[in-house]
Amino acid sequence: MRSSIRSPTASTWPTGDRRTAVRIARVAHGGDISYAVVEGDDVAFLDGPPIADLTFSGQRAPLAGVRLLAPVLPSKIVCVGRNYATHAAEMGGDVPAEPLLFLKPSTSIIGPGDAIRYPAGVQRLDHESELGIVMGRIATGIDEASATGTILGYLCANDVSARDYQVSDGQWTRAKGFDTFCPLGPWIDTDLDPASVHVRARLNGEIKQDGDTADMVFSPAFLVSYISRIMTLLPGDVILTGTPDGVGPMQVGDEISIEIDGLGAITNRVVAT
Ligand code: MG
Repeated sequence: MRSSIRSPTASTWPTGDRRTAVRIARVAHGGDISYAVVEGDDVAFLDGPPIADLTFSGQRAPLAGVRLLAPVLPSKIVCVGRNYATHAAEMGGDVPAEPLLFLKPSTSIIGPGDAIRYPAGVQRLDHESELGIVMGRIATGIDEASATGTILGYLCANDVSARDYQVSDGQWTRAKGFDTFCPLGPWIDTDLDPASVHVRARLNGEIKQDGDTADMVFSPAFLVSYISRIMTLLPGDVILTGTPDGVGPMQVGDEISIEIDGLGAITNRVVAT
């Protein structure tokens, strides 16, 4: 279980203490965009990004008085396919012997409440509820034991997929890469233990996916290590850890929520382009 959220007692936290419970958000407020720590019904604004120490500006606002944005602006989004045996089975395949990687462009990211645009010509637009990893440190060629220390936290992600293009193209760049195909949020939770939490998709209020991260084939620490041996992971980079079974189509007008136990939820509506 997660511990309770503790308020910071100093204007700056040492990096080593950052794994105390913190919800780091990026918010729009009064024409400005800032990083902020969510504390109950308030946000405490930060000076600068949450990459090194957290430095508080001293300014606060009600959470209800700010607009939550995608909490991170990564250089890349590395995604893992078929990381739950149940989803691999529903797609008609086995789990791979090694992680099956693909990329989504950073321009696919949207935040809470933003619209998912249904591309003209797509026949089937699927939701995929996923646990997202946010990197906190540079990681190159690290071993699995060191990997957890390079993770800043976790968030809810929707790996929106044009399923017909995924099948017809033979590779997944177009199917996974449209603008608005990567909702991330509502914040980065630096306290979440990803070993066993439920990852759900709720479509118009009805639960469509409900998987347990304990059923992942490759764990977050393994994935960070594995990917870091291929490409350098930079602070802010995001890894989508795969989706459990129950993926299904969304229609224009639908409301899709991705929710993770102890973390929160991100909700978006599908609109026509
Ligand atoms: Mg996926």
